[in-house]
Amino acid sequence: MSLQINDRLLWPGGKKKALTLSYDDGISQDRRLLKLLNEQGVKCTFNLNSGLLGMEGRVSAGKKEVSHNKIGKEEIVSLYAGHEIASHGRFHTSLTGMDSARCVQEILPCRQELEEITGQPLTGYAYAFGAFDDTIISALKSCGIVYARTIEATHRFDIPSDFFRWNPTCHHDDENLSGLVKEFLSDDKYFSFYSPAKLFFLWGHSYEFDQNDNWEHMEGFIKETAGREDVYYATNAEICQYVEAYRRLVFSADSSMVYNPSCITLWLGGTFTEETLEVKPGAIVKLQEPVDM
Ligand SMILES: [Zn+2]
Repeated sequence: MSLQINDRLLWPGGKKKALTLSYDDGISQDRRLLKLLNEQGVKCTFNLNSGLLGMEGRVSAGKKEVSHNKIGKEEIVSLYAGHEIASHGRFHTSLTGMDSARCVQEILPCRQELEEITGQPLTGYAYAFGAFDDTIISALKSCGIVYARTIEATHRFDIPSDFFRWNPTCHHDDENLSGLVKEFLSDDKYFSFYSPAKLFFLWGHSYEFDQNDNWEHMEGFIKETAGREDVYYATNAEICQYVEAYRRLVFSADSSMVYNPSCITLWLGGTFTEETLEVKPGAIVKLQEPVDM
């Protein structure tokens, strides 16, 4: 068997680790979370419900009742600057079992209203209650959404094969969190089908830190993972765009060269080599000779 040794995805700069976060519901506790993230340079995607902006409420979900006040329309642009805003459904409705038209009514206005507020195209989505099915996915595609996050923990660092079933590594209260962080930050080789580059994807709601009285838990996570030369910090959309650009690479029939038709500089490497290869937009680059295994 012969293996091409440097044709796998690496993150920008040839990095082998990427960290991305995803926080739901657009609530007042996001202010404190954002302060933490901004101090440490960690990027996050915030999933908002356009029909609920500015609404006041409480949440308990079987635990301590805390405030669930939504960030108002006028604060969104300044508060979330430097991060990504994505759709989370107009009214946070569970769409499983609904017909396409009903799904579109929940998805499309949410996207349009958030785009109007932010003045930019927003193509990300997080399933309300983590609920999804084939009809919802097809409605998302019709509405121009390009990725959607679930709430199913993988406890792995794989790059998703299907961005409409993008499972996070884990929730911030996952009992395996500290072990996963250690494994992520280690330089041990990571074996996955797709790439030796790792992706740590953390999700949650910032009100849960009030509920469980464990903000220090998140502070610890961010301190441990932030500010590292070997980690690429990105929003969900940036990860998705980079991976999609990698997937559009054109390899020659004998795998000796590769063409990058995208407008993003891509970095390649492999499990069996420390060498990295930069492929600029529009460039054709020679790959290393395959090795026999
Ligand atoms: Zn939610």
